[in-house]
Amino acid sequence: MNYISTRGNEQILTSAQAIIAGIANDGGLFVPTELPQIDLDFIAGLTELSYQERAAKVLAKFLTDYTEIEIKECVNRAYGGQKFDADDIAPVSSFDAEHVLELWHGPTSAFKDMALQLLPQLMSTALKKTGEKNDIVILVATSGDTGKAALEGFKDVDQIRIIVFYPETGVSKIQRLQMVTQEGGNVSVVAVNGNFDDAQTGVKNIFGDRAFNEKLQAHGVQLSSANSINWGRLVPQIVYYFSSYADLLKKNKIKLGEKINFCVPTGNFGNILAGYYAMNMGLPINKLICASNANNVLTDFLQSGIYNKNRDFYKTITPSMDILISSNLERLLYHISGGKTAQIAAWMRDLAQKGSYDVGPDYLAQIQNVFWATWTDDQKTQAKIQAIYKDKQYVVDTHTAVAWQAADDYKTVTGDTAQTVIVSTASPYKFNASVLTALGVDVTGLDEFALLDALAAYNAAMVPAPLAALRTAPVLHSTVCATEEMEHIVEKTIL
Ligand SMILES: *Cc1c(COP(=O)(O)O)cnc(C)c1O
Repeated sequence: MNYISTRGNEQILTSAQAIIAGIANDGGLFVPTELPQIDLDFIAGLTELSYQERAAKVLAKFLTDYTEIEIKECVNRAYGGQKFDADDIAPVSSFDAEHVLELWHGPTSAFKDMALQLLPQLMSTALKKTGEKNDIVILVATSGDTGKAALEGFKDVDQIRIIVFYPETGVSKIQRLQMVTQEGGNVSVVAVNGNFDDAQTGVKNIFGDRAFNEKLQAHGVQLSSANSINWGRLVPQIVYYFSSYADLLKKNKIKLGEKINFCVPTGNFGNILAGYYAMNMGLPINKLICASNANNVLTDFLQSGIYNKNRDFYKTITPSMDILISSNLERLLYHISGGKTAQIAAWMRDLAQKGSYDVGPDYLAQIQNVFWATWTDDQKTQAKIQAIYKDKQYVVDTHTAVAWQAADDYKTVTGDTAQTVIVSTASPYKFNASVLTALGVDVTGLDEFALLDALAAYNAAMVPAPLAALRTAPVLHSTVCATEEMEHIVEKTIL
C-alpha cells in the first residue's frame, strides 16, 4: 500500500517514508491509496486477543512495508511493560446501552498517549528500514498535553531527540510539573517567554529557516514534528475502534455484525477520522457522532457543508477541543470526494485566504450519511458530569461529558437506539478543578495536589501514579528563553 498527498503532488511513498516525512511537500496530508477491507471473521478473531495483538493485526493492513516482527516489536514497546495502568490498555466500561471507551490509561492520563506511544516506535523503525542515517530532532510547541505525551513517547528512542517548548505562563501547574520533571537522555524542555502562539510561531520559524536546516543537514540532523497530521499518529487510533467492538462482542453486548455508534469529543478531527477509516474497512458502524464545545465550527460544517473559521474563539473547560482549524478534515474530504486532489487544494486555498470553503450539497449528503454533529456549552457539560455521577457513581472528565451529552442529544433527535460507544479522552484527574466544580465542590485555595486528593474522594479509580509522583519528582529542566532565542537553543542542544 502506498501513500499520496491529499493535494495531488507527485510523491508516492511507503508508510515508513510517509511517517518520517510527516507532511507532504505541497502542504497536503498523506493518505493511503486504497482502504484495506476486512470481513466479520477478522473481527470475531480479535475477541480473544490482547490489545497488542489486536493492534498488530489492524496495523498490518496499513503498514504493508513493515514486517510482522517489526510491527509486533513496535506495538509491544508502545503498549507493553507498565506504561498503561490497565491490562487491556483501552478498556470499555458499560452502562446499559452506553459504553465508555477509556483512552486515558497511559502515562499522561489522556488519549494522546494512544498514538504518541506508538508513533516514535514506528518512526525509529522507519529510519532503520529506509537506511536513513540522519538523526531526527522532533520540535514541539505545546499548550500542555501534547508536549508531555510526546516526551513520554520519544524518551530514549533510538536516533531521535525531542525538544519541547511551552509558554512559561500558558500551562497549568500540573502540566508544567509533568514536563520539567521529564526523564530521558534525549529530551529537552524549554519555557518560552510568551504565550502558546509565540512558542508555536517560534517553532514554525525554525522549520522555515532554510539556511538553518541546511546547516543541521550538514551535521546529519533533520527536523521533524509529532503533530496530529502525521500518518503515524492517525493509524494507531484506528485500532481502538476495532478493539472496543471486539470487547462488546466478547461481553455479549452486541452480536457479530450489529451496527453501533461512536460518539467522539472532537478538536483536530484526528480521533473521529480514525473511526471513519475503521468503518470504511468494514467495521459495522452506524453513525459517527461528532461532539464539539462552543467552538462549534465542525457542528456547523457537518450540518451545512460550509466550513467557516471566521468566528469568535472561546476558552472553554474542554481546552483540548478549543480549535478553529481541524486539520484532519482534509483527509475526510479526500476520501469523500474520491480523491479529487485539485478540488481539495482549492478548498484549502480558500480556507487560508478567506477563512472558509463550501463543499456543496452532494458531498454534504455523503458526509451526513456517516456523521452526525452537535455541540454543548460549559454549563451543560458541568451538569452532565454531575448527572452521570449521581446516576452511575462514575466520574468523567469534561471532554467525555461533552461527548456523552451529544450522544443523548443524538438519541433524542433521531430515535436511534443502537448501542453507543462514548469515546472518553481524558482521566477526570487531568481536569480536576472543572470536574470538582461540576460535582459541587468549592475549589478556591486548593493547589493541584489538594485537587487530586479531593477528587479521589469521589472517584473509584485512584489518582494515576505518574500524577501522584509529581509531588516529589525532581525538576530536571529549568531553561527559559525569549522567542528569538529558540533557534539558538535548538542549535546548542543538538550540535
Ligand atoms: C486532543 C484531544 C481531543 C481532540 O482530539 P482530536 O483528535 O484533535 O479531534 C479531545 N479530548 C482530549 C482530552 C484531547 O487531548
